[in-house]
Amino acid sequence: METTQRVEIDGARVQSLLDELHAIGRRPVGGTFRGLYSEAWREAHARIKGWMAEAGLEVRVDAVGNIWGLVPGREAGPPIVAGSHYDTVPDGGKYDGQLGHVGALVAVEALRRQLGQPRRSLAVLAACEEEGSRFTCNFWASRAITGAIGADEPYQLRDFDGVLLADEMRASGFDPARVAEAATNEIGAFLELHIEQGPILGRMADAAGASAPRIVGAVTAITGTGRLLVTLTGQPDHTGTTPMPGRRDALLGAAEVALALREMALGVGPLARLTVARMEVFPNIPNVVAGEVRFTVDARHPEPAVELQLMESARQRAHDAARTRGLECRVDELWNQPPVQMAPALVETVRQSIAALGYRPVDIVAGAGHDSQLLGRRFPTAMIFTITGNGGRSHCPDEYASPEDCQAGVEVLAEALRRLAY
Ligand SMILES: [Zn+2]
Repeated sequence: METTQRVEIDGARVQSLLDELHAIGRRPVGGTFRGLYSEAWREAHARIKGWMAEAGLEVRVDAVGNIWGLVPGREAGPPIVAGSHYDTVPDGGKYDGQLGHVGALVAVEALRRQLGQPRRSLAVLAACEEEGSRFTCNFWASRAITGAIGADEPYQLRDFDGVLLADEMRASGFDPARVAEAATNEIGAFLELHIEQGPILGRMADAAGASAPRIVGAVTAITGTGRLLVTLTGQPDHTGTTPMPGRRDALLGAAEVALALREMALGVGPLARLTVARMEVFPNIPNVVAGEVRFTVDARHPEPAVELQLMESARQRAHDAARTRGLECRVDELWNQPPVQMAPALVETVRQSIAALGYRPVDIVAGAGHDSQLLGRRFPTAMIFTITGNGGRSHCPDEYASPEDCQAGVEVLAEALRRLAY
């Protein structure tokens, strides 16, 4: 049994750094937007770099704008890295991504001040982009780190105003021809502290009552996401002159599939998700039977085999609905991000760190994408989840995490880093 040497975390400093960042890119009404390589992004980039330098870290900015703050250890070897992303979605909240790199900075600073030089090197990572909310470049930071960005991507991706990513890179002081130089193997392990962005931990805490130990999540896996595009084709007939029997109504087929997928996911179990959330109806006129409907199916599960099975079942169900309603059916797979298991030994370190601090560890599966999803395929990776207030709302100005939950998350991160690096 390892001993716990409690590292004091300055929770007020965590809050003030989060507040400072939230003000950068803040809109007069609502939340903050810091899209990749935007003016607000550049300002946040400079601010975070300054914080790391003030904290005495060796600051390095890579070819895409990831900020690394190193504390060299006594032994050689790649650093234990902690962090998350500093971009936001439009109208984003204060905590998504930000708690991860701010928390890592405060934790590493505290460790260095209170325990001195670590045995293994430590590094804070403020990742330049994860949300894909300005350019459709999803996971720009972690794809750059893992060498997964194509050489022509900066010259192809445009934002919603038609601005080329390569031009915005140059304006931010980066050379789009050198993206590949951001790739690195120098990560001994990666830890990401993040708000849950869902209601599960909060509901457990409500059920346990106010006097129960505070809950912190140990993420065991990041769910896989599959996306299908289903096209059902029937016949666009007049709604007044065409009798009900014999119609080939594509919208009824789509409705049947949407309802059936919900039942299917409920039958598979609480970790399965099947959702129809985007639908295009043609001709989309009140007095014409829908001749064609295109809709997406979003399928999620943390086990690769089950995720694939959900996709296959959804595909099958669409074909079945089409057959009984006299429709044609075509199913295209738009993408398939397989689930990622977190490193078991690191997850155990996170659980033990939570328990050692007197909090209650709860295993949880991450239902959204994270930097850890890509980094976790290459490096030993684990995530720490904190309770998200307001019923778990996220990607909106209502996003909330209590100062106490933020503090607990940073304490757990510091304790896990202590166990790994000292
Ligand atoms: Zn995030």
